[in-house]
Parts: sequence; C-alpha cells; structure tokens
Amino acid sequence: MSAPDSMIAAYDRSNVFARILRGELPCRKVYEDEFVLAFHDIAPLAPVHVLVIPKGEYVSQADFGARAPAEMIVGFWRAVSKIARDLGLDPEGYRIVANHGPNGGQLVFHFHVHIFGGGIMGHSTG
Ligand code: 5GP
Repeated sequence: MSAPDSMIAAYDRSNVFARILRGELPCRKVYEDEFVLAFHDIAPLAPVHVLVIPKGEYVSQADFGARAPAEMIVGFWRAVSKIARDLGLDPEGYRIVANHGPNGGQLVFHFHVHIFGGGIMGHSTG
C-alpha cells in the first residue's frame, strides 16, 4: 500500500490520540466499537464537539483512505453517523471536519474527524 503523504511524517506512536487509545491518557468517552473511539474535544469549539478516531495507526485522512481495509473505512463512517445521531444532532444537522496536514490545521497526527453541533454552524469554507 502507499506510504503516508510526503508532507506528513510517518505515524508517531507517542501522539496524544495514540496515548488515549492505549488508555495512557483519560478522555470523556462518547462511543467505542471495534473500529473507532469517540470522545469530547478538550477545548470545544461548539456546544457539541466530539472527535472520532480510528483504531489503527493512520496519520491523516489520505493515509486512512489509502491504507485502511475497506471494512474499517465503512465501519468508521457508519460510526460517525451513529455518534451524531445518538448525540441528538439529527435531524437538525451538524458539521464534520477533517484537518489534513500543516496547511489544513492538523495538530494531532492520528487521523480524526471533528463533529460540531448543537448550534447553527453557518455557511463557511474557511
Ligand atoms: P486538529 O487540529 O489536529 O484537527 O485537532 C486536534 C484536536 O484535538 C483539537 O481540537 C484539540 O483541542 C484536541 N485535543 C488535543 N489534545 C487533546 C487531549 O488530550 N484530549 C482531547 N480530548 N482532545 C485533545
């Protein structure tokens, strides 16, 4: 399979989400299954701000898309939808964001998506 993006370093097992996955750091867990762990962001930017991370060593969304087994990709995205639903964010709606690489504002290099909800997000691409 292809290597991680050239602009992004190889997976670093000491990243904060890897440590949360291993139980070395606490989190406010929202949901867990064989594919994902979801927990509240430590510095929420919306009334509901949850992070969903895959249970695997994927640096970025591109790395995840390139290397994760299809079963994992499907399991991940189904979990994202289920978590949003279970948080009561449907049918009003919510926003999903995946920051990719330095220019995308990615700070933690374990692939994750942000679920933002609980209020009107507005229309924004920036
Ligand atoms: P990124 O910019 O990489 O997409 O976002 C990383 C997110 O992780 C940020 O929203 C930040 O607040 C969150 N974060 C960083 N460290 C921790 C932590 O130790 N626990 C939790 N729950 N969230 C964290």
